[in-house]
Amino acid sequence: MHPHPRASLACLTTVLLVAACSPDSKQPDTGEAPPVETLRVEEQTVTSNNHGLFDVDFEVKDGERVQLVLEDPNNGYVGTQLLIDPDGNTALDRDDWSGSHNELTEALTGAQYASTLNWPVREEDGTLAPGVWTLSGEILDRTQEPNKHADVEATILYRTDDAPTAGTAHVVMAYCTGVRDQDGVVEAMEAGVAYWQELYASWGITLTVEYTDIEVDPALPDTYEGVEAYGELLAGYDDYPLLMIVGDDINGDSYIYGEAAAIPGPATATRISAVEVSWLAHAGANGKFSDGEIGILGETMAHETGHYLGMFHPVEDGWQFWDAVDDTPECNSMSQCQDKLGANLMFPYPVCTSMVDCAPQDELSDGQTGIIQRYVGVD
Ligand SMILES: [Zn+2]
Repeated sequence: MHPHPRASLACLTTVLLVAACSPDSKQPDTGEAPPVETLRVEEQTVTSNNHGLFDVDFEVKDGERVQLVLEDPNNGYVGTQLLIDPDGNTALDRDDWSGSHNELTEALTGAQYASTLNWPVREEDGTLAPGVWTLSGEILDRTQEPNKHADVEATILYRTDDAPTAGTAHVVMAYCTGVRDQDGVVEAMEAGVAYWQELYASWGITLTVEYTDIEVDPALPDTYEGVEAYGELLAGYDDYPLLMIVGDDINGDSYIYGEAAAIPGPATATRISAVEVSWLAHAGANGKFSDGEIGILGETMAHETGHYLGMFHPVEDGWQFWDAVDDTPECNSMSQCQDKLGANLMFPYPVCTSMVDCAPQDELSDGQTGIIQRYVGVD
């Protein structure tokens, strides 16, 4: 266990962008200012101390929620240890969660390339008091030793949201080299997207999806490794879209339907900023999509994006770890968990009676829905 001395700071703060969506012009003029949603973004470079620890101070305005993306240019491991509010109270402490059987955020787990803290996660985490907050983090080198006097790049996104239970997310779906030319793949993906959009609409999130191509080998690496081209593609957009990559398979495993880089994943452009989907795993041995397989495909898109937006499985396969959401049922055996949670979108696997006959997984609890609506990349 590490102590938490305040690290010395070398802060470089730049306000990059203040985006404000203009109100709908068709709205009647009531004389009152219509709700305006804003996203502002700030970048800091901080330096770790002798123990590999660093602080990021950031100023929150009234009504904002935040996402901090920590990047390590040396590709060691970076993560969050503490989050301190303006009165000096601890809002989040890694030590409270490290031995827990409930999972709140992977921000507390050291990650390569980028680590993301979205706050608050749940309703019970409260709203952010205005003032200067501090994230204390740790950076390790590739041998897991403290990385002393190392730079950490922090991007802080602040979202003001006048309609927290309704939101919009922009999705960019990118086909890897040659995938678009495979027979039936584009039609299947578009049908899967339509189901995914329908599911998210039922939880208050409108998905606007655009399609593009990316020059990436369709034999995809693990999302935790990512691909430099993912970040390069996203850097061409100014509205922080979610990136979904369509490839042949993931990490050489033809049984992996899809994978999200982290829980949550970064809203900013990094090499791990993606959800990957395998079209071959869904199409099965005959390479053709049945209606049942398209249903699984849409649910894979919704499930993996659910991870990316911050949801864990309500129970992990093994029945000994659970999410940190109060209103998902508790269970501790396969039969009990399939019975109570098998219809939940975030159940760890599809519950099927055959390869093509799987029960719909189209439910989320209010607590789960609250998590994805608080993700800062969702307006
Ligand atoms: Zn999952």
